[in-house]
Amino acid sequence: MIGHDTLTPEERAYVEECDAFLAKRLDPELVARMDRSEVLYPDGFIRELAEQHYLGAAVPAEEGGGGRSFLEEALLNERVGYHGSAAIACARTFTGHVGWILHRYGTDVQKEKYLRPMLRGEKITAQALTEPGAGSDMAGIQTTARRDGDRYIVNGEKRFLDGAHTANFISCAVRTADGDDPRRTLSVLMVDTDQPGYEILQTHDDWLGFRGLGSAWVRFTDVEVPLENMLGEEHNGWQYLSEQLLLERVYATRAQLGQAHRALEIAATYAEQRETFGKKLKDHQWASFKVAEAATRLDAALLLNDRAARMLDDGLWAEAKMEVAMAKKFGVEAAWQTVDDAMQIVGGIAYTKAYPIERIFRDVRASRFTAGSTEMMALIIQRRAFDKLRDPNFRTELVGHEVDGSPVAKQMPERV
Ligand SMILES: Cc1cc2nc3c(=O)[nH]c(=O)nc-3n(C[C@H](O)[C@H](O)[C@H](O)COP(=O)(O)OP(=O)(O)OC[C@H]3O[C@@H](n4cnc5c(N)ncnc54)[C@H](O)[C@@H]3O)c2cc1C
Repeated sequence: MIGHDTLTPEERAYVEECDAFLAKRLDPELVARMDRSEVLYPDGFIRELAEQHYLGAAVPAEEGGGGRSFLEEALLNERVGYHGSAAIACARTFTGHVGWILHRYGTDVQKEKYLRPMLRGEKITAQALTEPGAGSDMAGIQTTARRDGDRYIVNGEKRFLDGAHTANFISCAVRTADGDDPRRTLSVLMVDTDQPGYEILQTHDDWLGFRGLGSAWVRFTDVEVPLENMLGEEHNGWQYLSEQLLLERVYATRAQLGQAHRALEIAATYAEQRETFGKKLKDHQWASFKVAEAATRLDAALLLNDRAARMLDDGLWAEAKMEVAMAKKFGVEAAWQTVDDAMQIVGGIAYTKAYPIERIFRDVRASRFTAGSTEMMALIIQRRAFDKLRDPNFRTELVGHEVDGSPVAKQMPERV
């Protein structure tokens, strides 16, 4: 936050603790190597985060998590974005949102086999929603898990999966029943990647940004999964995935805002030193106003994110859909606009790798369609917004009617 925050003293102390650790331990060279796709997953660093209880920070401590609030986990992610990259924040975030649904709906066996090792940094997970034929439209998921005795047989393809190249298991959205209603046909299954039939078709290490996660396009061909790997109730996956996505939207957006803050900091400092036409850049009104607008935009986005996280902390999951969507939509667009402004203020040198603005620019761009695109967020917002904005005293009789209430007469074209 650039202005005064609305955090409690405990929350502020947590931010300071995270900051001190990350400033010391998050090596910029690791970020650069990931960006060059020389590292396919920051597993060493992820283990260090585990020692700090920064994996699954909001999962209860007795289950191996950090015992923090959702807001505190979001604050942590903001600092990871600021000191590191969206890719490192993403690797950590999976332990937060996949970890949280495992904590909430998983069996003791699943927690022992997947959740705890993941939170110790020993097992890597990937989250598999997107398919070649189903991205924004999650209801279109076609990967199937067919029951066969004491196991499921999984078939299908998933793409753009962060961490899939190195993942030990995949939290996989599958269709377990026929029919169009996603609320009754989808399930979430933990699929071990050492099973025969699991195959990586392509890695996405040539992506514009977000590199160094071992993101991949994968195929499941008759992969056998024990029945005990089904999360919660069969056919109830839509609910689990919806909850997981609420958390992911809050956490992932926060990392982008941390990155955007870093870019703006560089640009503002640069503008105080660079001279053009005989005066500092910051003394040209266009540059100083850009900084003012970006600072305001970032703080507004962070406050929306705080509100969304606090609603989840207060247990308002069903109610928070619109507020989370507002925080995601406004947040990633604010981050994108801010990084673009930062690049404009700094000029040509920002387009090189001299400063991280160039990498942040590439990283942030993806957030406008990952975890639910800006357009999908608008669809969610408008549904609830229309309910909230309905005027009970509205003069309905005037809609399409004359003042006296009679229908508006159709204007006939004049005959020539
Ligand atoms: C860096 C990165 C990391 C990712 N990580 C993962 C991951 O770990 N796991 C995973 O499962 N997926 C992952 N994804 C996939 C990501 O979630 C999808 O790209 C996203 O859901 C959009 O799906 P799509 O690309 O198929 O686009 P589409 O759904 O085909 O949409 C294309 C465009 O049309 C717009 N659009 C679609 N329908 C509508 C509509 N009804 N109204 C208005 N606009 C519409 C969308 O907003 C989008 O801009 C990742 C993607 C990227 C780029």
